[in-house]
Order: sequence, then structure tokens, then C-alpha cells
Amino acid sequence: MYHKIQTTKPQQFIDITHKVASEIKNCNVQNGIAVIYVPHTTAGVTINEKADPDVVKDMISALEKTYPVYGDYLHFEGNSHAHIKASLMGSSCTVIIQNGKLMLGTWQAIYFCEFDGPRNRTFYVKIIEG
Ligand code: ZN
Repeated sequence: MYHKIQTTKPQQFIDITHKVASEIKNCNVQNGIAVIYVPHTTAGVTINEKADPDVVKDMISALEKTYPVYGDYLHFEGNSHAHIKASLMGSSCTVIIQNGKLMLGTWQAIYFCEFDGPRNRTFYVKIIEG
């Protein structure tokens, strides 16, 4: 299913776990996998810690130190840093569904990763029973 998401900052991680979980509830799948897919070249998706919000801040700042916005890039759009960061995070992730629940660890969340915002973005969730 198609989801719209509005990012509000140039670089931002947004917790989308609840959106994926509610889709599993709606389709009533007890066991299977959920694939979360981001169809953008300057945004991605990753799974990481939700307990301490400083973790995602540290991830954004570490990526920024390695691939700064204003770096020595060739790409005419001037957003090469965002393309690189999006590829590093990846365009999809897969989570096992067991007994109707995402099998995430206690401290894990699924994050939509914006690197060239703010923008109107989308992501897909495909649930496969099995
Ligand atoms: Zn570009």
C-alpha cells in the first residue's frame, strides 16, 4: 500500500513503524513479511534505535561529516550528498511478521530517512503472507 509522508526538514528521520503496524492489522496477516520500499533517490529507509532520539541525530551528523551538503561533487543538481546518503541507508527493508506483529527488537523502529527535504514523499508497504 501507498503512503504519503510530508518531511519538514532538509535532513530528517521519521519513525514510520506505527504506519507499517497498522497496515498489518488492517490486512489481518498473522505470519509473513513486510517489505517497506522508498521510491526516491534522495530518501531511504532504515531500522535503528528509537529509545534515545539522539541516536538518529548522531546518524544524521555522522553522515553529514562524511558526505557534507557542500562537498566536491559533479552532479548538476547540487544534491549529491543526499543521493549518497539515500543509497547508504537503502531503499527498502524487510521485517518478519509473527502472530500479527512486527518482529522488531524492543529498541528498534523503522525510519523514513529524508536527505533532501522538506518534500512530499511516499513509501510503499507490501505484506506477504507465509
Ligand atoms: Zn540529484
